[in-house]
Amino acid sequence: MERQAVQRAREAFLSGRARPLEFRLQQLHALQRMITEKETEISTALKQDINRYDTPLLELIGIENEIKLATEKLAEWAAPRHVERNILTISDEVYIQPEPLGVVLIIGAWNYPWALTLLPLVGAIAAGNAAVVKPSELSEYSSLLLRALLPRYLDKDLYPVVTGGASETQELLRQRFDHVFYTGSSSVGKLVMEAAARHLTPVTLELGGKSPCYIDRNCNIRTACRRITWGKFVNCGQTCIAPDFILCEPSIQGQVVDRIRQTLLEFYGADPKCSPDYGRVVNQRHFNRVMSLMEGYTPVVGGQSDASQCYIAPTVLKDVPPHSRLMQEEIFGPLLPIVTVSDMDDAIRFINEREKPLALYIFCSDKKAVKRMIEETTSGGVTVNDVMMHYTLSSLPFGGVGQSGMGRYHGKHTFDQLSHQRACLVRSLGMESVNLARYPPQDRRRARR
Ligand code: NAD
Repeated sequence: MERQAVQRAREAFLSGRARPLEFRLQQLHALQRMITEKETEISTALKQDINRYDTPLLELIGIENEIKLATEKLAEWAAPRHVERNILTISDEVYIQPEPLGVVLIIGAWNYPWALTLLPLVGAIAAGNAAVVKPSELSEYSSLLLRALLPRYLDKDLYPVVTGGASETQELLRQRFDHVFYTGSSSVGKLVMEAAARHLTPVTLELGGKSPCYIDRNCNIRTACRRITWGKFVNCGQTCIAPDFILCEPSIQGQVVDRIRQTLLEFYGADPKCSPDYGRVVNQRHFNRVMSLMEGYTPVVGGQSDASQCYIAPTVLKDVPPHSRLMQEEIFGPLLPIVTVSDMDDAIRFINEREKPLALYIFCSDKKAVKRMIEETTSGGVTVNDVMMHYTLSSLPFGGVGQSGMGRYHGKHTFDQLSHQRACLVRSLGMESVNLARYPPQDRRRARR
């Protein structure tokens, strides 16, 4: 099944029909039509998968924007780019031609099942590739709907959807692809890279990690906490770039806790379990995992849970020791630990002692200090005085660094990532005398001088 899908995609790619720009545009328009016509079904599937209320805002608008950008810019992105020449190539045509790689494997995660599969697909189509799409088995309703819908709108041989879990993905990974685009955990990311290495296939790995959020005492703590509370608890904390933990000085910790508590009340009411705006943890396994991270702590906010609904209240924990388990692995759930640091230098040291994160958030009103913190740390991306907003811009490359991933996408970055930048030099057969200097035998040339 997996092998046949790849074979069909390969044959369809080799037929050459994915290449013409008109075809790419037509497929992108069809994808847009699918989203417009099936928005209700997609929302229902997301509700069934992870009790999501905010579908259009979080997933579909982002995909639609990417489709719009790709259709508007495709001719420009795909055009040959003429580059500088030297004395030896002065009368040649020298350019970089983006060309399709071939068959791309897109493996998505469950937390934003539509965006994490369709955003790379937009780039794959725009770049003229075939793509096998493997959504996550954990977002089952969305996966099955994607499998049913995509062939009704797009070329079904060029862009097949394969559903299934680890074993189906591993079977896919035994096949040969021209690029593997994986979103998910770092541990599976290593398996993907290992499998791709057997075919020397390049990979994009969109992974996770612990994204720190530093709150300086020199900032509007009320606004900072409002923005952080939104970014942390949206989708029940299951967002790869959610602030994972807060770093702040002990003197403002109490204020931070109070402000987050107030904001939670404002957002989700006295009992978030009854709020239509608050999500659920994806399944029992992740529920148990997140609950176990809380063991041994007394939360200062939240802490309530209901296993029958995979419900965990928005929870804040203060004075969390830097070496606790809560601070070792990515939380990926609605728990927000606060670790105290003595000042910004201490925060920078703390961040640099750990793996390079996917995102870094800095709340601070002192522009110089912000610049310094950006310069003295690293992360996939950084947003200052807000959270997650760098993700929303197609002009910014989105991706990790070190353990948080490799490669980048969004907008033209996806197109480039899934294209080969072919170096082209075209010259005429005239002016042969110019070439005599490089032909052997060298001795005769010296004699001639
Ligand atoms: P997941 O369980 O849905 O797995 C991701 C994909 O890997 C799925 O398609 C799944 O079928 C496949 N898979 C799982 N185990 C496998 C195995 N043993 N062999 C081969 N394939 C396998 O998602 P997850 O890993 O729980 O996702 C959460 C992680 O993803 C978090 O770390 C999060 O930060 C990260 N994430 C990153 C981004 C990003 O853009 N950087 C976005 C979303 C999620």
